[in-house]
Amino acid sequence: MNLTVFGIGYVGLVQAAVLAEVGHEVVCVDIDEKKVERLNQGLVPIFEPGLEALVRENHAAGRIRFTTDAAAAVKHGQIQMIAVGTPPGEDGSADLKYVLAVAETIGREMDSAKIVVGKSTVPVGTCEKVKARIAATLKKRGREDLSFDVASNPEFLKEGSAVADCMKPDRIIVGTSSEDTEMVMRELYAPFNRNHEKMIVMDVRSAEFTKYAANCMLATKISFMNEMANLAEQLGADIEEVRKGIGSDPRIGYHFIYPGLGYGGSCFPKDVRALIKTAEGVKFDAKLLRAVEERNNAQKSVLFDKVNHYFKGALKGKTFAVWGLAFKPNTDDMREAPARTLMEALWAAGAKVQAYDPEAMQECQAIYGLRDDLLLCGTKEAALRGADALLICTEWKSFRAPSFDALKDALTTPVVFDGRNLYDPKVIARYGIEYFSIGRMAA
Ligand code: NAD
Repeated sequence: MNLTVFGIGYVGLVQAAVLAEVGHEVVCVDIDEKKVERLNQGLVPIFEPGLEALVRENHAAGRIRFTTDAAAAVKHGQIQMIAVGTPPGEDGSADLKYVLAVAETIGREMDSAKIVVGKSTVPVGTCEKVKARIAATLKKRGREDLSFDVASNPEFLKEGSAVADCMKPDRIIVGTSSEDTEMVMRELYAPFNRNHEKMIVMDVRSAEFTKYAANCMLATKISFMNEMANLAEQLGADIEEVRKGIGSDPRIGYHFIYPGLGYGGSCFPKDVRALIKTAEGVKFDAKLLRAVEERNNAQKSVLFDKVNHYFKGALKGKTFAVWGLAFKPNTDDMREAPARTLMEALWAAGAKVQAYDPEAMQECQAIYGLRDDLLLCGTKEAALRGADALLICTEWKSFRAPSFDALKDALTTPVVFDGRNLYDPKVIARYGIEYFSIGRMAA
């Protein structure tokens, strides 16, 4: 099938590459000229396991193309997939300017029937707005004869395993009330639906809402567990034991109940805020979601508070090693990452940071530029040299089994503040290292 994808970000690029891999002819269009130019040179702008090879192979085979020429791109696809950003507006609600700009482009350039598919995470009612914008643009052109439909098809990939998630989706949600559109969507996703029925078809509004409900549920699990962790510390309980204890109940399960520094990234924070705003719009008080967000905001400061308490507020002139900058492992994404809150608080207190992350160093440089109080180090060992403490923000695999002897030798003060509970307090204590983690007493 011929497919046009608007927006070559995490979602657009990964979905486009995966759909090209199974044989569809995909044209990707973006307004970012540099991104398009780099992709045409075979350079993939984001890190996702398996993505670079997939993009290169399908590009070489001519199944995926990148362009800024929206007019030609619209003409290519029977399906027009919208995967542009929906960042938070000033009041926290989802800003739809990019989505509606694409709708206008489609209305302006289409010259045959189209099925427009909303992949971006958008508030309930957005597909209707997209439909209205395309219809108004066609009317202006005097081309109301051109038929189109708008379906919702929210994306559930996880950064860090985005390619695998798209190759083997848990579910494919399609919001449409048109049988024809449903048939086209079934054909598009047929290669992913061969053994098990993955597609769940529902009305458009329910599909739009499903995405928010899923992300808010996951954010709630994280905030709940962080609340339990903070309480466990006060009560002298070990949250890691509690986690195993409750996870063994199949109604609870082990997924997504790890205590830590709060959720970050480009989705959970903005989607929780956007749903709170949507609720306000219909005069519904989303009490639970407001609490989820409040707990998360507070959780991002937990590690700084521990460090500040340990050093009795005398952080000025101190140097801290920070391991992990990305908001989670296997990505270079630092949007709303807890490491940012921590580093910014350390800088405000007059401290310096020596940071290392396996993938997010360039991203960190791009966000903060050159500054005297940030040294980006080539290895995790280099970040430790002469630092007053080690602070861990992301649970990368390569941080899980360091040489504790070398770690102790490199630090000026042998103390570790671990925001991801990577180590056994008893083991690290044997090396003579002081250890503070989340929801556990020091050994
Ligand atoms: P992103 O910021 O990585 O990429 C968005 C891209 O859209 C950018 O390259 C931008 O230049 C481009 N763009 C903006 N306006 C455009 C236009 N008029 N025409 C063509 N391109 C345009 O965003 P993302 O992380 O891929 O997220 C996209 C959407 O998917 C969001 O709604 C997000 O909430 C949702 N989503 C994201 C994830 C995730 O893990 N990142 C997962 C599921 C859903």
